[in-house]
Amino acid sequence: SRGEFSLHYQPIVNLASGAIESFEALLRWRHPEHGWISPVDFIPVAEEAGLIPELDLYVLRALAQMTTALPLHVNLSPQTLLDERLLLGLAPLKGRNLRLELTEHALASPGAEARLKELSCMGFPVVLDDFGQGYASLRLLVGLPFSMAKVDRGFVGGIGLDPKAEAALKAVLALSRELEIALVAEGVEREDQWAWLRSVGYSLGQGYLWGRPAPLEEVLYP
Ligand code: C2E
Ligand code: CA
Ligand code: CA
Repeated sequence: SRGEFSLHYQPIVNLASGAIESFEALLRWRHPEHGWISPVDFIPVAEEAGLIPELDLYVLRALAQMTTALPLHVNLSPQTLLDERLLLGLAPLKGRNLRLELTEHALASPGAEARLKELSCMGFPVVLDDFGQGYASLRLLVGLPFSMAKVDRGFVGGIGLDPKAEAALKAVLALSRELEIALVAEGVEREDQWAWLRSVGYSLGQGYLWGRPAPLEEVLYP
């Protein structure tokens, strides 16, 4: 209500061409006294307080007011997935190329899987975020209508350093091809990581190498 929340956007790029394929919307809080507060800090608090659905719905309302040619990714918390108001919040965004990102934490509660299928049937592609960070992800990828997964940035951080992380990245890519799920490598910060990902066949990436999350003006007119 004080207008302190805003959205930043970070590109997801085609690794072969470097062209922007889509954007992820990421929430920011600019506090009058404490400056920018990271979502890593305020989202867990909002979740604990039960306020996160309000915030996620605010984000959806903001996105409903803009038009983009490229797909937009939005993050939904576990509580938001189950919230009755979600379908209403999404209604104005039908047919608008919006992709919904969820982590496996969102799928732990009863009713979550049915809701996810419902969203997919409504025409919203669902994206499994932070893939590989948890433990139940494989069954989720096989059993649910995810059209995309984002490999946790911990693995990309191991490129050139940790042969096991590289092996995991290759194995996940092979699996995603079999399952026909698009794959995004998250947390790409360096040219050598980009080169490695391209060489093994990854087609999409996201990370500081191509741009930090930034306000819309900066993203449109860099
Ligand atoms: P996430 O969905 O995994 O988003 C990616 C995070 O990684 C973002 O942090 C982004 O700034 C950061 N990142 C991107 N590229 C790089 C890189 O190359 N290196 C490193 N070290 N980090 C990179 P951010 O914006 O601080 O967001 C943190 C988390 O907060 C998000 O993680 C997401 O889980 C959550 N979040 C953000 N916005 C929303 C929202 O609107 N609703 C909900 N429910 N959660 C949100
Ligand atoms: Ca995300
Ligand atoms: Ca992520």
